Amino acid sequence: MKFFFHILQWTIRFSVDQTNNFFSFMNRLIFFLCAIFVFALSVNAQELKISPKILNLDCSKPRGSQEITHVMLHFCSDALHNPNNPYSVQRIADIFEQYKVSAHYLIDREGNVHQFVVEDRMAFHAGKGKLPFEPNYENSMNSRSIGIEMLAIGTEQEMKMFMSPQHYRKIDQKFVGFTEAQYKSLNLLLKDIQKRNPAVLYDRKHIVGHDEYNTTQRSDPGSLFDWKKIGLRRER
Ligand SMILES: [Zn+2]
Repeated sequence: MKFFFHILQWTIRFSVDQTNNFFSFMNRLIFFLCAIFVFALSVNAQELKISPKILNLDCSKPRGSQEITHVMLHFCSDALHNPNNPYSVQRIADIFEQYKVSAHYLIDREGNVHQFVVEDRMAFHAGKGKLPFEPNYENSMNSRSIGIEMLAIGTEQEMKMFMSPQHYRKIDQKFVGFTEAQYKSLNLLLKDIQKRNPAVLYDRKHIVGHDEYNTTQRSDPGSLFDWKKIGLRRER
């Protein structure tokens, strides 16, 4: 900001000192307006920042030669053990390492993107399942996809497989659902992933929820996830 203030001073000073040199003043004014324009563009441009927080290598394995064609979305939290503080990234990393599971990325409530596993390794996030429109992918989504976890909690019904309704009611409502910052980062991250993996088409056949792959044992990202906010529709 200081930089623009100096340019403004410089433009005004020139106009006072040398009013006879109108064209040179106009040049400075145009330069000043261009500087404002560039500044406005840079403020508007959204940048994706990925912080590496790589998990132990026994939470993933080499992917092999299979092409990445899908992205799978998930939610996770520590609400079972810490209903009042369910979103510690460190706790989630510890739990993943303890159970030897993983996802490539985790987006926290503030929209920060943490990388748990590099994309050319297979993360253990999908487990067993089947997509109705991809019969050849049965139980093989780990090898074909990138997994993105978002720190979020679903509805009482969706969380029933993890906790009792009594426990769910201990969770503050502010922790339920997704944040705008998460949607913003997810949009950027998906586009970034696509650049590296062009076979991941930006549609509902290639960007899927865990709950669509394992319809009986998984409920994430669930009904509170708004697909429209990433430019897609819930229905495939
Ligand atoms: Zn999941």
